[in-house]
Amino acid sequence: MNRIQNPVLDENVIYDILIIGGGATGLGIALDAASRGYKTLLVEQSDFAKGTSSRSTKLVHGGVRYLAQGNIGLVKHALEERGLLQRNAAHLVHREEFIIPCYSRFSVIKYLTGLTVYDWLAGKYSFGKSKYLSKKETLVLLPELKTKGLKGAIRYFDGKFDDARLAINIAQTAIEQGATLLTYTKVIGLQKNGDAVNGIITEDVITGNKNTYYGKVIINATGVFVDDILKMNSPDAKNMVRPSQGVHVVLDKKFMNSESALMIPKTSDGRVLFAVPWHEHILVGTTDTPLNEHSLEPKALKEEVDFILNTASDYFNLKPTEGDILSVFSGLRPLAAPKQAGTNSTKEISRDHKLIVSARGLITITGGKWTTYRRMAEETVDLAINEAKLQAKPCLTRELKIHGCTDFKDGSYLDIYGSDRMNIEALIAEDPELNAKLHPRFPYVKAEVVWAITNEMAETVEDILSRRLRVLFIDAQAAIEMSRTVAAILAKALHANTDWEDNQVEIFNKLASGYIYRADNKIERMALAK
Ligand SMILES: Cc1cc2nc3c(=O)[nH]c(=O)nc-3n(C[C@H](O)[C@H](O)[C@H](O)COP(=O)(O)OP(=O)(O)OC[C@H]3O[C@@H](n4cnc5c(N)ncnc54)[C@H](O)[C@@H]3O)c2cc1C
Repeated sequence: MNRIQNPVLDENVIYDILIIGGGATGLGIALDAASRGYKTLLVEQSDFAKGTSSRSTKLVHGGVRYLAQGNIGLVKHALEERGLLQRNAAHLVHREEFIIPCYSRFSVIKYLTGLTVYDWLAGKYSFGKSKYLSKKETLVLLPELKTKGLKGAIRYFDGKFDDARLAINIAQTAIEQGATLLTYTKVIGLQKNGDAVNGIITEDVITGNKNTYYGKVIINATGVFVDDILKMNSPDAKNMVRPSQGVHVVLDKKFMNSESALMIPKTSDGRVLFAVPWHEHILVGTTDTPLNEHSLEPKALKEEVDFILNTASDYFNLKPTEGDILSVFSGLRPLAAPKQAGTNSTKEISRDHKLIVSARGLITITGGKWTTYRRMAEETVDLAINEAKLQAKPCLTRELKIHGCTDFKDGSYLDIYGSDRMNIEALIAEDPELNAKLHPRFPYVKAEVVWAITNEMAETVEDILSRRLRVLFIDAQAAIEMSRTVAAILAKALHANTDWEDNQVEIFNKLASGYIYRADNKIERMALAK
């Protein structure tokens, strides 16, 4: 599956459903629409999950925090989706044990009560029962935890996943169901018939070619970019989204050498913070910083990184410092903008999604969570059927397995490929040179790069090192050190010359330097919301 092998594009066809945006939301909609039998086209300006969908906390969860805010309906639906996703993407979604350390008897009672309700809301989709752990039991699970004043902990279960890999697997499933998906294809204008939107004007960001595609209904699933599309339809459309930045830092496992995740239920700014084992490292985050701007590469603010390190230091025996950060990355929540202007606290803005018909033929969907992407897609396609007067067909995604789904796991890091793992092993059997490692600190081998190019629509060094292998997000320096080898494999596969290869390395290294944290980094930071 690459750009060329993707189902043939037909400019003369009127697509039933045309989707802008290849993040969790757009990909979920493409999968839902194609599996119902609608002629579906999705365009993404960059790579799949380049935006927010590769920058999450990696939780498939109901949202303990939303429960505390009394958002029972949201939590219940998300817990059901968590269960469905674990069943349909069994190779990618795993049950994770979360530990909430308690430093007072009151917090033991409070969190145990809350999490018992959480378990109860999950019903038949429960991941396991929450319980109180003594101080001794807690320290067996999290030996690096600060012990002073520790009264014990509450253990609960939620899901953990690799967000970008799930996006790739959903894209593959959508294509298998008949959808056409184009990456590096940016919508630069909308096509209209009177006041109804009936098409998109696109630019191939690699070749510069422009095209027009027509659809019976157009779905704007562009995350924090939804307002840009809405303004293409009506320049004075009101903003639907307010971006809120969330930062994560990745640390060596020595700070928390555990299979369990740590959940800090109340930080100094009243939020929660997670430390989650992820690809043999520890992912710590996140923040919630309202911004007035959006970008595909938002940058962490010093205050956000300080906040994460200081909070983690309050709980870890070994205190992480700036120099310990292996990678820092930021994502923008496409939160629905509040009705009354002037609130600056984004944690109060709804995490639920917003779905509207913004003009005749144009549906916009924004907000929500990765966990609920399937449900959001179902609702969106139901609305699209109505809007475009398509022949109604039932949603099939509750039962539909995602590409790669298998229960077989033997603990190898290749388990993440699910049923594709054997294809990678077959590549190695055919050419043992492909078993060469890309970097001494990582298990990844050349065969995975070849696989990503030929079967996962990877086109650049960044696609491979950021979203097929997650090295850029785990250890940015190691990613820089791998970039030359990856560029050489890509150049060979794409019959590109050495200038192209050098250029790929240069572009990637410039990008990757933004993931290496330096407090004095002079990279221009995003403007904070007033
Ligand atoms: C810090 C953080 C942590 C989170 N953690 C979790 C978590 O642990 N669990 C969870 O369930 N949810 C989590 N979320 C929420 C979840 O990540 C998002 O809700 C989800 O990824 C949003 O997906 P999306 O497709 O709407 O947006 P995006 O992923 O941003 O996708 C939009 C896409 O549209 C494309 N696009 C934009 N303009 C155009 C154009 N003109 N033409 C073509 N394409 C275009 C962009 O390139 C982008 O790829 C988190 C969010 C953040 C920010």
